[in-house]
Amino acid sequence: MALRFYNTLTRSLQEFHPVEPGIVGIYACGPTVYQLPHIGNYRTFLLNDLLHRYLQWKGYRVKFVMNLTDVDDRIIEQALARGVAIDEFTEPFIRGFFDDQQALNIRPADVYPRATRHVSEMVTLVERLLERGHAYLVDGSVYFAISSLPQYGRLSRIDLSHMRAGERVASDRYEKEDVRDFALWKAARDEDRRVGAVWPTAWGDGRPGWHLECSAMSMAELGESFDIHTGGEDLIFPHHEDEIAQSEGATGRPFVRFWLHVKHLLINGEKMSKSLGNDYTLRDLLQQGHSATAIRYLLLSAHYRKELNFTFDGLEDARAALRRLLDFQDRLERSPPGDEGGDSALPDLARTGLADFEAALDDDLNAPAALAALFTFVRETNAALDRGTAPAAHLEQVRHALRRMDEIFAVLDLARAEGQVDARFAAWVEERLAQRQAARARRDFARADAIRAELSAAGVLVEDTPQGPRWRREAPRTGPASA
Ligand code: AMP
Ligand code: ZN
Repeated sequence: MALRFYNTLTRSLQEFHPVEPGIVGIYACGPTVYQLPHIGNYRTFLLNDLLHRYLQWKGYRVKFVMNLTDVDDRIIEQALARGVAIDEFTEPFIRGFFDDQQALNIRPADVYPRATRHVSEMVTLVERLLERGHAYLVDGSVYFAISSLPQYGRLSRIDLSHMRAGERVASDRYEKEDVRDFALWKAARDEDRRVGAVWPTAWGDGRPGWHLECSAMSMAELGESFDIHTGGEDLIFPHHEDEIAQSEGATGRPFVRFWLHVKHLLINGEKMSKSLGNDYTLRDLLQQGHSATAIRYLLLSAHYRKELNFTFDGLEDARAALRRLLDFQDRLERSPPGDEGGDSALPDLARTGLADFEAALDDDLNAPAALAALFTFVRETNAALDRGTAPAAHLEQVRHALRRMDEIFAVLDLARAEGQVDARFAAWVEERLAQRQAARARRDFARADAIRAELSAAGVLVEDTPQGPRWRREAPRTGPASA
């Protein structure tokens, strides 16, 4: 079966072939760096990782581009509130984002263009739109004239009877009921100057709109027409609709061939929101003692267009599934080989396992079906090993199949590294606690307090009980202040 993706543009499953044989260009809308990403964002970023890894697994050369939105309405608002320039404000969130990517074993993009470093391309794009009659100037701001582009609305299939052409919307995030001419470029306000969010142009100082940023950065990195563009489902309108309008308006060529959108993550059955206090960041969960590998596994385990409800029970299930994979890998390493000329079911199981795994992912990245294929392979290989030994070459074939499948889910090494860190950390805490008990026994309370302070600095809370000291990791600190 050929590789197929569900394309939001056509609302159908379509066979995927890149424009240039063997080479794929992907643009993923990255984080708006005004806070640390929450785990909903990571559902989308992990789908990108799955796509990135799978296309490489299939032998494509991939250019993967993920932008950082480091200037937009929300960033300016927050930088103003803190009284700092936008670059200074966004810096810790950018760092935090890269730390998270690494913790979740997300394969790095080839480039991470930052909006503030690509303003000249954005200005050029506005100039082209002005020249081609798709944009107009009002008091130093430039707006896109949606009535100038017949295909406007094709991606989101919005009801254009709501369209109020000639009326304008300045905000970057607006609702479907508010289809109006949108801002490409916003004239500088005093507030923008105070936070360093101003660039000069022929028509006056100002700053780019959010949608313009992604059109300019994607075309700068991937050309005017490219293969795949991804994002969360909330970006279909207006962000991606407006990206298409800007790019196609400026070039007269089709912008993106495949649009993939990820369904929003729910947490404990609810929408994620600040007011409900359930917009967990990755570090919130890690500080509560949850494992990055289990989080990665759980977020990848549902099909990206299906509902996924993140629960703490779900994390426990993910942990159990990971345990089974680790045990299986250990067994394969330990299994003594049988006679060299002997027979076994393993080569067939490896072949079928890999074929089923690939067929599942070919089918619009069906991760749950791929995991089912992986676990069937684990179960049947275990059963075959229960029945008797296999020649070394056969064992090597199943080890290879497991490694191949793990190139996509990428959890085994991560889980092992995590286990080692956990065990090392626990051993260190126990050793410090023993030292503290010894200090107390000799009534050296200053020393005992110093050790307690050292543990506390490492995020360990100690409680003295009649049975001796007990410890646990501290509850998470929340909010961007911990960034
Ligand atoms: P933002 O930083 O708000 O620009 O979002 C970064 C990416 O995360 C975008 O592709 C969003 O569509 C996506 N996203 C935001 N919230 C969620 C969620 N609850 N579940 C999945 N993806 C999300
Ligand atoms: Zn974008």
